[in-house]
Amino acid sequence: MITNRQLFLNHLAQTSPLPLGIEVSLAEGSFLFDPAGKKYIDLVAGVSVSNVGHRHPKVVKAIHEQLERYMHVMVYGEFILSPQTKLAEKIASLLPPTLNCTYFTNSGTEAVEGAMKLAKRVTGRTEIISFHNAYHGSTQGALSIMGSEFFKTAFRPLLPGTKQIPFNDESVLKEITEKTACVIAEPIQGEAGAVVPAAGYLEKLRERCKEKGALLIFDEIQTGFGRTGKMFGFENSSAIPDVIIFAKGLGGGLPIGAFVSSIENMSTFTNDPVLGHITTFGGNPVCCAAALATIGVIQEENIVASVERKEQIIRKTLSHKNIISLRGKGMLYALSLKDEAAVHFVIREAIHRGVITDWFLFNMNSIRIAPPLNIDDETLEHALKVLLEIIDKI
Ligand code: PLP
Repeated sequence: MITNRQLFLNHLAQTSPLPLGIEVSLAEGSFLFDPAGKKYIDLVAGVSVSNVGHRHPKVVKAIHEQLERYMHVMVYGEFILSPQTKLAEKIASLLPPTLNCTYFTNSGTEAVEGAMKLAKRVTGRTEIISFHNAYHGSTQGALSIMGSEFFKTAFRPLLPGTKQIPFNDESVLKEITEKTACVIAEPIQGEAGAVVPAAGYLEKLRERCKEKGALLIFDEIQTGFGRTGKMFGFENSSAIPDVIIFAKGLGGGLPIGAFVSSIENMSTFTNDPVLGHITTFGGNPVCCAAALATIGVIQEENIVASVERKEQIIRKTLSHKNIISLRGKGMLYALSLKDEAAVHFVIREAIHRGVITDWFLFNMNSIRIAPPLNIDDETLEHALKVLLEIIDKI
């Protein structure tokens, strides 16, 4: 009989020549299981998606309850659907008062597309500035603002009027001018390898955007919902963006994205032309119900506060002569080794020993450590010790 592995290779589009190829039969809490019953500790969380763990019972319950009522009924923005309205209200309650109006999408990259269009409408300008080693998604608009020529070149021509500047460098903020519609930044750069900006940098960026009338957009797709030890990454600073973008951790395991701004800014989508941004599936009621339950879990189980303690466990445990550096904040870390070969060795060997980590897009010498935020201390310590034992062999 043909195996699932063979079907995977025969019929699913592959994105790399050497996929990890772990076959998943069950996921629960901080663990994945393969069909043979092998248990893996998940230190990736679906790339910062499963912040409340896999299949959190309260999220599963909310999904079931919504399934009993309705799933898709009509395109976004026409019908009044309580999972959407309650979620939008909840999101507004977590953010500063100027961020009070949400547009739901299916994914992060779609939310980025919507936010860029919004900035063009609000400012009447077209230039979009982003940062070296920034990742905002794979659709052509989001790809245009990616901070890596290596991943972009093969797909040109892309959006005109985009520019990437070095992150965390105040001296280049002068590139933001009266021509700039928006600047889009990750409060902590994810795929660059968990790059934390210097104290005061995001505030300077905020100031410059304000001075020049450019919108400041924070992409919190990877940093949102507790990942950095605050509900949102921007709360590690005093800079408040004009637009904030979510996805990943918002849905608790179901696909949903969102961009949030003021109701005045969002109203530009309703005229000249009408239907300025539309989507069939964005804000799917089942996904919204899952997202509302996910935020509920984060709040009720004090998950954000627990991240600080686990951050200490990670920092204390991951100390070894073969570790070049440990960058990051909260529970988003890049552990740097001497070279790419060492990273490959550790990732493969760790999987063999039942611990899942992975790479960063733009930082080949680092291993990603971003477990579910509610992983228990003992499991976390065990997984990190396994990593250390492997790192010792490099
Ligand atoms: N922005 C950031 C910071 C991301 O990390 C990602 C995905 O990794 C995206 C945008 C794109 O999100 P999606 O894969 O849901 O389109």
